[in-house]
Amino acid sequence: MRSVLKALSLAHAIDRGHRPIDSPRRLGSKPLSPAPRIPSEAVSNFLGMTDSPETLLRRFGLSAFRPGQREAVAAALAGRDSLVVMPTGGGKSLCYQLPALAGDGLVLVISPLIALMADQLRRLRDAGVPAAMLASGMADGHNAAALRGVASGEARLVLAAPERFASTAFRDALAQRSVSLFVVDEAHCVTEWGHDFRPDYLRLHGAIAALHRPPVMAATATATPRVAQEIAARLGLREPVSVRAGFDRPNLAFDVVSLEGAGAVARKRAALLHVLSDPAARPAIVYCGTRRDTDSVAELISGAGIRAVAYHAGMSPDARRASQEAFMTDAAEVVVATNAFGMGVDKADVRTVAHWALPTSLEAYYQEAGRGGRDGLSARALLLAARMDLGRLIRFNTQRTTTVADVRAHVAALRRRAGAQDGVATIGHAELDDRDRVLLSIAERAGAVELRPGGARGLLARPTGQGSPRLAHAAIQAAKNRGWESYRSIERYMSGASLCRRRQILDHFGDPTPGAPSGRCCDVCDPDPALAQELLATTTAPVAPSARRRSTSAGAGAQDPISARRSRPNGRACADPEPPAEPLAPVDEREFERLRRWRFARAEGKPAYTVAANAALEGILRGRPATMDDLRAVHGIGPTFCERHGDSLLAELGELWGTPSSAATAIASVSAPT
Ligand SMILES: [Zn+2]
Repeated sequence: MRSVLKALSLAHAIDRGHRPIDSPRRLGSKPLSPAPRIPSEAVSNFLGMTDSPETLLRRFGLSAFRPGQREAVAAALAGRDSLVVMPTGGGKSLCYQLPALAGDGLVLVISPLIALMADQLRRLRDAGVPAAMLASGMADGHNAAALRGVASGEARLVLAAPERFASTAFRDALAQRSVSLFVVDEAHCVTEWGHDFRPDYLRLHGAIAALHRPPVMAATATATPRVAQEIAARLGLREPVSVRAGFDRPNLAFDVVSLEGAGAVARKRAALLHVLSDPAARPAIVYCGTRRDTDSVAELISGAGIRAVAYHAGMSPDARRASQEAFMTDAAEVVVATNAFGMGVDKADVRTVAHWALPTSLEAYYQEAGRGGRDGLSARALLLAARMDLGRLIRFNTQRTTTVADVRAHVAALRRRAGAQDGVATIGHAELDDRDRVLLSIAERAGAVELRPGGARGLLARPTGQGSPRLAHAAIQAAKNRGWESYRSIERYMSGASLCRRRQILDHFGDPTPGAPSGRCCDVCDPDPALAQELLATTTAPVAPSARRRSTSAGAGAQDPISARRSRPNGRACADPEPPAEPLAPVDEREFERLRRWRFARAEGKPAYTVAANAALEGILRGRPATMDDLRAVHGIGPTFCERHGDSLLAELGELWGTPSSAATAIASVSAPT
């Protein structure tokens, strides 16, 4: 806890504009934590080996290191802890794969996502490295065979999810080996407050200690200097060697298309189709904010004659696998996905990464955009930035604002559960939504709960009966600040049309080196007249998306609506003509999901539309009906629906919004005994 507070206070120092005591660039020369000690048993695994980073590289079949890789490998071979911060596509995994070729110790890699691990396992085996992987959901016998490989010494590297440490079989297999390097991949999961935060990561500190403290390599692509500090503190890194590869991706061009006002969605569609209609812009990934957008944008692109598939968590695992497979094998040229897609999907020739919705932070944006052009050839990152999307991010932040009372209530609920289960509550993996995760992490930081990974069952939480409101308050404040900082980072990026986008990104990551684009730089430095022309054409003559397949060549002297807007202090590039119907305000995705679940239950096995269409559910969320009369007034809701489902729905809405209507209260009291 003290180390966390230290990280928080460091962060504070940064907030106030002071230089942090330990700038990450100097981590290598200045310890983060006092009394560093490198245990001799850890060092012995590699010492005495004649392997140099270069020999290992050649054995791996490669001829040259990319920036930072050599330093990271050398640190591992020297038995040093390290904090490796490399942008996505920078070759982070090689940093721990090469040490697996040296000595006979085991390199243990903790990674959050199965897709990421599966992909790495394949590549390691292709490269002739005996590797194993342990994860839930594998075929029968897979994990047993993997454990045998670990215990027997055959496997040089093992990939595992953090919750594996709850498995006795796993710990026993590890005990047969000497772990030469403990790798925490995607290490930002230890600090994130949002969807990336993994409570299981909090206990890695203990797992490392139980393995006689091998050297630790924390690797991440997303750490700003401040997050890097917290990772080091949370994992208890000792005098870590700091490896920060430059954050510039010279072969990526950055475009932001600002969309506001009437017809924004039509222009958004036009911009996306314009960019993707060029065969050289594919393969492409299009990121959407919601599952519904994912489906409709995939339809839009397919409608333009481009082979596209959707990918989101609402699809069955088989359907997701099929989409991923289609994209990986080029059967589909475009994958339209939520951010569930991409971690560990290593497709080198992605030419465009477009964002249909604003991501929650500039870090998230850069990580996803960084999936373009991993082969070193030109690629484009396109952010379709509608100002109305900012409202969604603001709601996201406001909704997860918490108070000490919320944390207390959360802990009290845990205590009730734990009371029935020997003082420890088991929390299923799927059970935690973003808000629960934040509450739980605050409770943990305040000392009110102890968390342990609980294997396949989820997470074990033991209420301590203590906890400091002061610490809880500090953690809440830190979470709040983080959330708004993230918001501001992406808001600044999308609005900052006067400063090179590449420069903005490098500044955000604390990388002072000048950007060195190998081709086009960004929409600020090198505007794209063809895209501007397309936007202008859509602005002046909105057409149905299916009817538009206009020429992509730039008209000479075309006016660029973006730069025109920029150059006129308060003017628009041109007057918007009669706009097409403005889309309805987006509804809250979580609320929508809840109504979908409700609908699923009401459908009793029949197709969902027999209860209500998606549009009707959205209408309900917008109309916020509290009574049967309100409900009847919602567009798409008829008397039959009200008769069959009205009471049940109002009760559900009452629970959802915490203000039960009288009807809902009546229902709730009637059904209370169940
Ligand atoms: Zn630029």
